[in-house]
Amino acid sequence: MAADSRVVVVGGGLAGCACALGLAGRGVEVTLLEAGSTLGGRVQSVNLKGMERGIDNSQHAAFRVYGRFLQLLATCDAREIIKLQKRTTLPYLEVEKGRISIVKSGRLPPPNHLAVSLMKAKFLSLGDKLAMQKAVKALQRMSEEKRRSLDDTPFIEWLQENGQTERAIQRFWDPLVKAALNIDSEQASTSVACFLFRRGLFGDPDAFDVGSFTSDLSDSISPALRRTLARTGVEVRTS
Ligand SMILES: Cc1cc2nc3c(=O)[nH]c(=O)nc-3n(C[C@H](O)[C@H](O)[C@H](O)COP(=O)(O)OP(=O)(O)OC[C@H]3O[C@@H](n4cnc5c(N)ncnc54)[C@H](O)[C@@H]3O)c2cc1C
Repeated sequence: MAADSRVVVVGGGLAGCACALGLAGRGVEVTLLEAGSTLGGRVQSVNLKGMERGIDNSQHAAFRVYGRFLQLLATCDAREIIKLQKRTTLPYLEVEKGRISIVKSGRLPPPNHLAVSLMKAKFLSLGDKLAMQKAVKALQRMSEEKRRSLDDTPFIEWLQENGQTERAIQRFWDPLVKAALNIDSEQASTSVACFLFRRGLFGDPDAFDVGSFTSDLSDSISPALRRTLARTGVEVRTS
């Protein structure tokens, strides 16, 4: 796009703000239109009567693998609103048994960095774990071309075809799919889910370091986005 273009971006959620900042950074004149009164879209807090502080509507969790989101926060000088784990530590709570298994990264290189703690974890049986090893191998073997061709295949089908047990799906695959993609394995595209697990969980040793927010989302995200958009020369019109 030519630097002297003029662009109107409709919607001031994360996508619209990132788009406006990216274009403005390339010298494009940008106007951002937002129907609401704040920026950040679904990333905001809801104030309920009787509560001392707002409850976050979305982005309950973030992971280190969310590179673009973290980059957007850094651009807005708001990186400190997320605290990331120094080492992947994923607790699995079994309410009925009152016990917690911790899956954490160890010294082995990916894709085996979680293998030792997964082998010890009590929330999965030996059969579940052996089946999971099979899926990890299939993920590793899958070509990019094959992965892209599976966009219309629900991830649950791929998991079942690759011998995953009901318990491994319920306790391991599905919670991670829900956390990262906001949908369950029945709805998630195999292509996107395989991208997540290949690049994330079994590709990069720190991809699934969990990040938690250190402050109320509306108070931190909207003003930071507004400040940065103004600094970059984007004209922002909210209601
Ligand atoms: C309950 C919930 C929990 C979530 N939890 C997580 C999580 O734990 N981790 C995670 O990574 N993600 C989570 N998400 C997802 C994440 O919040 C969204 O994917 C992301 O915020 C979407 O950003 P967006 O900019 O694409 O859309 P939106 O945030 O929906 O922004 C769209 C914006 O466009 C505006 N708009 C729409 N139409 C017009 C119009 N005609 N004119 C002007 N403005 C318009 C809207 O007002 C809105 O501000 C969650 C989402 C929800 C709802």
